[in-house]
Amino acid sequence: MTKFKFPIIFPIVILSFLVALECNGQSIQAKIETVTGVVSSENIGFTLVHEHIMSNFGADPSDIDSYDEDKLFKQVLPYLKSLKESGVETIVDCTTAYFGRRVDLLKTISEASGVKIITNTGFYGAAADKYVPEFARTASTSELAAVWISEFEEGISGTEIKPGFIKLAFDDGIPSELDLKLFEAGILTHLATGLTIAVHTGDNPLAVKAQIALLEKYNVNLSAWIWVHASKSSDIGYLTEIASKGAWISLDGVNKDNITSYVEMLKVFKSKKLLERVLLSHDGNSYPRGGAVRPFEAISISLIPTLIKNGFSDSEIHQLVVVNPGNAFSVRVRKN
Ligand SMILES: [Zn+2]
Repeated sequence: MTKFKFPIIFPIVILSFLVALECNGQSIQAKIETVTGVVSSENIGFTLVHEHIMSNFGADPSDIDSYDEDKLFKQVLPYLKSLKESGVETIVDCTTAYFGRRVDLLKTISEASGVKIITNTGFYGAAADKYVPEFARTASTSELAAVWISEFEEGISGTEIKPGFIKLAFDDGIPSELDLKLFEAGILTHLATGLTIAVHTGDNPLAVKAQIALLEKYNVNLSAWIWVHASKSSDIGYLTEIASKGAWISLDGVNKDNITSYVEMLKVFKSKKLLERVLLSHDGNSYPRGGAVRPFEAISISLIPTLIKNGFSDSEIHQLVVVNPGNAFSVRVRKN
């Protein structure tokens, strides 16, 4: 893999400025929960905000928790080590409970590879609710929130590992009662824990609208919310409109074949001075149900060099892949 290391440019100054800005002048220590413990947002480094270390997506939900561990480590560890060589320091793992989250294995992988990993709480409401557990269908919002809050307060699956964000998902079309209920429970969890809510939404303006309405109902600042797979929308005007309200716009489908379209999108965000609301990732997977790696290296290898050729400065790139993730995943309650 081509090595790319971009310079570390005044991260502390920028971060403390942004954090202060978003907290109305209150000075707050920004911390991030990884599977190996708390790190300060200044130390998060080059971060990929939406990848999967491994998952059992596509399998029955009952298969969730088992992997061929020898095979898993053999495939994932060299891949993560090569990413680390290229400069990646942190990966946000978006595999939720019921399709393959295994925080003990994530911790082993993090320690062996040297890559920091952030895991999640929450349930995945897309895929026609296949990965939503039975009890969640009848549970109240506060009962659901209690499950996720307890993962944050007591640790996940009997470990001391805490989630670093809340991962949820909406199906396409008019938002279902269940997806809305899960999202409302996500807001309650945010208010109790300060965890950011990342929601698989894609090209679904109705779901965007419904989520924003609920955040406003609870007086939660839009900076607590990540529009995941926003890059599936071709309406760049709508993306920048939502970014300008303070939401995080996750352009998370980068691969070696679509670099030009990402550069074009980023140019629009830059022209509107909204780069500070954008997150970048690949939605890759280093162990998709035991299959071959779905790569997550195009940002280092192709996108960043192409951005530089297109006039993006080192500090703008640093903003996109270091400062923004540090800010987006800082654990703190964000009320208006
Ligand atoms: Zn994903």
